[in-house]
Amino acid sequence: MALILGKSLLFAQSLPADDNYQFPIRPGKQNFLAGTMGEIRSTHIHAGLDIKTGGQEGLAVFAAQKGFISRIKISTKGYGNVLYMKHPDGSTTVYAHLQKFIPEIRDWVRKNQYEKKSFAIELFPSKDKFQYEKGELIAYSGNSGSSSGPHLHFEIRDNQQKPLDPLSFNFSEIKDNIPPNIIRLGVKPKSANARIFDQHQNYYFSTQKTGNVFKVNEVVPVYGEIALELQGYDQQNGSYNRNGIQYIEMQLDGETVFSQHIKNFSFAESRNALVVYDYEEKQKNGRQFTKLFVDNGNSLSFYSKVKNKGLIVIKDTLEHQVRIYLRDSYQNESIVKLNIIGKIPPKKVPNSTKKKNSFSWKIIKNFLKIESPLKVDHRPEIKVYANRIGYEIAPIYTDSFNAWYLWDLKKGLPDSLSIYKELHALKLAAVIPPNQKFSFFSKQLDILFPYQSLFDTLYLTHNYLKKDSQHTDTQEIFTINDESIPLRKYISVTLRPENDYKKFNTGVFSIDEKNRYHFEGGKWKENEITFRTRNLGKFTLLTDSIPPTVKLRGVSTNKVRITIDDQLSGISDYRVLLNDQWVLFQYDPKRKLIWAEKEDFNGRPINGNLKVIVSDKLGNETIFQTKL
Ligand SMILES: [Zn+2]
Repeated sequence: MALILGKSLLFAQSLPADDNYQFPIRPGKQNFLAGTMGEIRSTHIHAGLDIKTGGQEGLAVFAAQKGFISRIKISTKGYGNVLYMKHPDGSTTVYAHLQKFIPEIRDWVRKNQYEKKSFAIELFPSKDKFQYEKGELIAYSGNSGSSSGPHLHFEIRDNQQKPLDPLSFNFSEIKDNIPPNIIRLGVKPKSANARIFDQHQNYYFSTQKTGNVFKVNEVVPVYGEIALELQGYDQQNGSYNRNGIQYIEMQLDGETVFSQHIKNFSFAESRNALVVYDYEEKQKNGRQFTKLFVDNGNSLSFYSKVKNKGLIVIKDTLEHQVRIYLRDSYQNESIVKLNIIGKIPPKKVPNSTKKKNSFSWKIIKNFLKIESPLKVDHRPEIKVYANRIGYEIAPIYTDSFNAWYLWDLKKGLPDSLSIYKELHALKLAAVIPPNQKFSFFSKQLDILFPYQSLFDTLYLTHNYLKKDSQHTDTQEIFTINDESIPLRKYISVTLRPENDYKKFNTGVFSIDEKNRYHFEGGKWKENEITFRTRNLGKFTLLTDSIPPTVKLRGVSTNKVRITIDDQLSGISDYRVLLNDQWVLFQYDPKRKLIWAEKEDFNGRPINGNLKVIVSDKLGNETIFQTKL
């Protein structure tokens, strides 16, 4: 412990000073942000600033500090064209989604691309290769990689490669006197006896804004263990973009019970984003709520002063004050006010729903929740069968029409339910613990869960069905739970389909909520196919026999542009030969475009026989030839 403390102290001393950096784009002028460091994105935590470039590419990018280019990467994904610069104080700055580098870097990179015969490349130049002073031109801004519009992604990392908040370095280029904004507050039950408005379900509240205070107008009756979550954003002066909030603190009756301050994090823990926000709510309703509690499986270290993981337990009948303080990097502050009052849960609740036609059940975290219409005699009869024992359970509450039941799954995994003497199979296949390797086998599919691939215990369900389809005779659909459960790491799934497929060009696709297909992969062995995925939900097998399309879009003395596209599985690879020799073509999948500029031809004239070979992910290939 002492050793760790000593190390972090040393590390704190080596942090760069405030005036160390120059703003990398339009220095000295007001700049605007489309993203801030620490923002919780759908699959990761955002590591830097997204600096707007007015919808344009080609703005000059300057070295933020004296140093040398330590890493260069060109990719069609992620950061696209990116430069990493190492500085004398041990810190690193990162410039991503670039359009191009300055000529001396570009020429050296191109030489390496020709040696490797590859557009995508990663290079680590030696310390003396590319040295620049603070403020020297190093590149031009762009929209390369996984970028959805022109901007510069800029990071400052410490000597451990942990991203820091660039706004903590007091750049005068960014102005911000706008406090964070709140849209909604969510309250969720966390224990079996928890209630909100007498119900065991989530509630969402809008707030009334007065200055920088956001108030929930009603006093909310609650009981048991509850959790809060918040939908909000921060804005900087002069731009409409909704960015992340750096600092959140929650107090219950004046005592801090939860706080997070995103000052830095490590890239290895970035995937925790999926449990920082409410993943299920986002999948179902598209709204992103930040949890004001540390959920199971969340290993991030930017929480402090957290009591009982941030969960609030109310067991009295008094009124309590919840206050949430939100601050941005410029210390602008907003306060959310919610008053709750303890209320002992009644057995009979006011009618909140109409009479249901039939019973339904679903798994919510560790509970099996059952809803059933009441019979005339108002005596529901439900038995849960677990480990071959039948447990008669009483409703947690009823209204005039329906009854609600909760079964704690930690007590045992039920195989069936008896409702008014009718037996219903539950098809819960297994309980998968998050912190160990687990192999599941069944007739239709096997799943291998590596160590820590889950954030939380998974109550595994799976299903197989054949349905008529316009594409094939019958489509086979394999379902594993649903897409509302996040995975930390890839799992390996083996499917045993019944149909006959042309194995050489058939693979596994996931089906999203909008019924779109996404290629997952797959390796055949006899009549089973194995693939890796980081999503649960629906999967199917599709045959792709249509090769990619290749079309010449434009030729000039300076540039050749070619469109490449593939319908089902997508492009996996392309090669361009001029008079049988490899030539460098750049690739932007967003625009379905490959192109070469005069300099990309490595001094060769742009004429002769051009041959373009494009393959998709299921082995179909197109060879396109033309004379330039
Ligand atoms: Zn970014």
